[in-house]
Amino acid sequence: MSAQAGTVPPDIFGMKLGQRGTWLLVALVVLCAVHVRYPVGVLGDVSYMMVTVGAGIVAMLAARRRPPGERYAWLWIASGVLLAGIGDVIYTVIYWMRDVRPDASVADVLYLASYVALALGLLGILGMHGSGQKLDIDGLIDMSSFAIFSILVISQITNVGEIFADDSISRTVQIVWAAYPVLDAALLAVLVRSIISRKRLGTNGVLISAGIACWLAADFTTLLIADATQYTAWMDVGWMLGAALMGAAVIDRRSDEERDAEVEQASAPRPPVRVGGARVLMSLSPLVVPGAIATWSYFNGHNLNPVPLFIASVVLVLLAFARSTRLVRARDLQEAKLGQSERYYQALADNSADAVIVIDADGKVINSSPHLTEMLGKHGLDTSGIDAIELIEPVERDRFSAALDRMRATNSVVKEIEVLASHTDGSPRWFGMRIVNLAGEPAVKALVVNIHDVTDRKRAEEELTHRAFHDSLTGLANRALFHDRVEHALQRNSRTGADIAVVYLDVDGFKTVNDSRGHESGDLVLREIANRLLSAVRSSDTVARLGGDEFAILIEQTTRPLDEAATIADRVLQAMTAPLHIDDQQIVLSASLGIAVGDSESTASSMLRDADVAMYRAKTTGRAKWTVYDPEMRAAAVDRLELETDLVDALANDQFRLVYQPIIELESERVVGFEALLRWHHPTRGVIEPGTFIPIAEDNGSIVPIGEWVLQEACRTGAAWQKRYPDRFLSMAVNLSTRQIASPDIVEHVQTAIRESGFAAGSLVLEMTETVLVHDAEMAAERLHELRALDVKLAIDDFGTGYSSLSYLRQFPVDILKIDRSFINSITDRNQIPAIVRGLLDLGKTLKLETVAEGIELGVQRDSLRDQACEFGQGFLFARPLSSADADDLLERLASSERLVAIGTER
Ligand code: C2E
Ligand code: CA
Ligand code: CA
Repeated sequence: MSAQAGTVPPDIFGMKLGQRGTWLLVALVVLCAVHVRYPVGVLGDVSYMMVTVGAGIVAMLAARRRPPGERYAWLWIASGVLLAGIGDVIYTVIYWMRDVRPDASVADVLYLASYVALALGLLGILGMHGSGQKLDIDGLIDMSSFAIFSILVISQITNVGEIFADDSISRTVQIVWAAYPVLDAALLAVLVRSIISRKRLGTNGVLISAGIACWLAADFTTLLIADATQYTAWMDVGWMLGAALMGAAVIDRRSDEERDAEVEQASAPRPPVRVGGARVLMSLSPLVVPGAIATWSYFNGHNLNPVPLFIASVVLVLLAFARSTRLVRARDLQEAKLGQSERYYQALADNSADAVIVIDADGKVINSSPHLTEMLGKHGLDTSGIDAIELIEPVERDRFSAALDRMRATNSVVKEIEVLASHTDGSPRWFGMRIVNLAGEPAVKALVVNIHDVTDRKRAEEELTHRAFHDSLTGLANRALFHDRVEHALQRNSRTGADIAVVYLDVDGFKTVNDSRGHESGDLVLREIANRLLSAVRSSDTVARLGGDEFAILIEQTTRPLDEAATIADRVLQAMTAPLHIDDQQIVLSASLGIAVGDSESTASSMLRDADVAMYRAKTTGRAKWTVYDPEMRAAAVDRLELETDLVDALANDQFRLVYQPIIELESERVVGFEALLRWHHPTRGVIEPGTFIPIAEDNGSIVPIGEWVLQEACRTGAAWQKRYPDRFLSMAVNLSTRQIASPDIVEHVQTAIRESGFAAGSLVLEMTETVLVHDAEMAAERLHELRALDVKLAIDDFGTGYSSLSYLRQFPVDILKIDRSFINSITDRNQIPAIVRGLLDLGKTLKLETVAEGIELGVQRDSLRDQACEFGQGFLFARPLSSADADDLLERLASSERLVAIGTER
């Protein structure tokens, strides 16, 4: 029942008593008082029994409510109290009926049983809280010895011998009477044992110990007095209180949390019990007792029966023997275990991939596992006594000894470091070390170092870092690292005043190689370029691959950055000219370079961007050269970017047109054909020349579909004109870019254009520059043969500007040479034709090729060429490129006059 609000329940010895508890306490005090006041008679008897029986019943009820794990023990305690109570009732009833106090009766059986029950209960509680579930044999042996000890002492003190010596009493009574001191002694032993073994006596422990102590005190007093006349009510009070206390002990006052905590504590691992000298002495001390008693009896003149003493001695010796045997066994076991674990750890150390070394205070190795020498490649080396530092690479020694010193100074326990060790094979080995400071451990007093070879992991880490900053294909620095280097160089710059330069390099026509020969060849080319770049720079320069076919060089630590950059750029261009052999075939490479010189405002990004812009200028103004950045280039670069964006949709938006420039037979000045030239009608910028946008279209690959359209459109127009002027056999020339030739689709594009238009294949001329042939001769030859098989004619455009040689030209199935305008330009005097022009015309004749002179603007040029038997010509002198309508008009007019009379205007 819960306490009323406002009334605080009385607190006794830290125990909270409920309302019911308070009433029970009051009843107990009243009943004890009544018993003391009226010890004899009905009132005394009833008050006595009310307490003992009441305590028994309360205990029984309380024990049933105990948690299952401990219920049995508490039921034993409760039944001990209740049995005694019932015994009291039987005793009193017999006394009332016979009016004599019986020597021995059924009540004594219950009394004696109650001792056994209490002992069992105590042992049960011991099991619960003592050394856990496992039977504590040592404890039992100790307890038995102590029990014999107390029995001997108590029976001696209480003169049990005299009971048996008294012939006036029956054997049964003798046994019953003797049983009391014996059981008292046994119960005392159990009580002492349980008090000792329970580290912390809880409330219940205190109550139960006090209860049993009350009983034992009353018992001993009774036994010692052994005289009914001196018997007082105070002894009864001892039994009454004992019963009450034990009854109270059975009541569980713990809260659920407390109980949980206890369970947890009980299940927590306990440290092993130390078997010290005190404990051995305690377990052996009872051996003294028989002799002591004999001595005592001798001096007091008692006539002692030696048989019980002898039996007790024998039993005690046996117990002591058992106890010592177990002690020795336990020690042996522990030693065996220790030895085993020692061997175990030794075996572990010997066989693990790790090595262990022990270092003393002076840094000397005092012990090491054989593995260490193996890890260092120093087989057979005796490491003991050497300085631990000698195992480490010289560069790492300071770091290593600093780590050891710091550990010793700060008394830190564990430290992990990685150091470079010196292996005999000279290759670097990384050792991961776990240093444990065991200076405070008396058995070791040193640093113990566990060594693990982490070289593989270290290498992998280095590899990863390398990869993060290097290009996997060429091994050069990548964009990130290059950027970083430039940034650092600029920072140094601001201090030293020295200047730096960045060279940006883009391989000319690299996409063609990649498209026509596949990526593997492309990779080979890039690797080769990387090698050539490295050979062209100074060792202090950084070469990087920025991505694709773009490279960069950082030139630093120079006082004349521009000159230095120019020198290096020239060397690079020179290095590029050597032909490259891939799959037994020859490729000639070139590159365009841009140079940017740093100033106080430069950043890594701005320098890279400027060099890129300059490179682009080099590329669009002829390739295979270098250009230095100047600010106005940036506007052009921006422009280009815009065009590139617009170009994407130009074809779909029908923004392309073809114009046609007539080709003239110089002798007769008849129009024999046209060259189709591309124009881009930009929505805002107007007409854009091919020189502006074709390089962009080549770069981004859109030249292929655009070129396909040009082929179709040119063939359609050509077919229409052939139909209308059938007797002219007009030819149509179409320009093909390098990128188009490299594309395997070109053959099909040409085929389709012819088929769909119905244009005569023999009238179609495909023009391509020499660079196509030089760049990748093998591929070009193959492609040209395929095209020739379609019956079209092939012309070399801008002839004379490339690397052509006679032997070169022989490889290709070429029909026409178009001599570049620059040569024709140089003709100013009909009587002084430049040798080079004559040479080119001769070459054409030797190879039996038709020759077309490009860019004839002056009459003198026309006349001179006619003198030199150049068959065909084209140029503003005859006609500008014409829209198809104008060209149509021209053809119409020519049908009547035959002679070319007008110079058309391009629209
Ligand atoms: P190209 O093949 O050498 O074409 C001849 C260029 O010379 C044309 O410039 C033409 O207008 C110009 N020209 C002709 N006669 C004279 C002259 O007497 N004096 C001067 N100063 N120039 C003359 P255009 O049309 O600007 O074409 C430039 C280049 O663009 C062409 O050079 C050709 O390489 C390329 N191109 C033009 N159309 C196409 C095309 O459809 N596809 C490809 N891949 N390239 C094309
Ligand atoms: Ca051309
Ligand atoms: Ca040309």
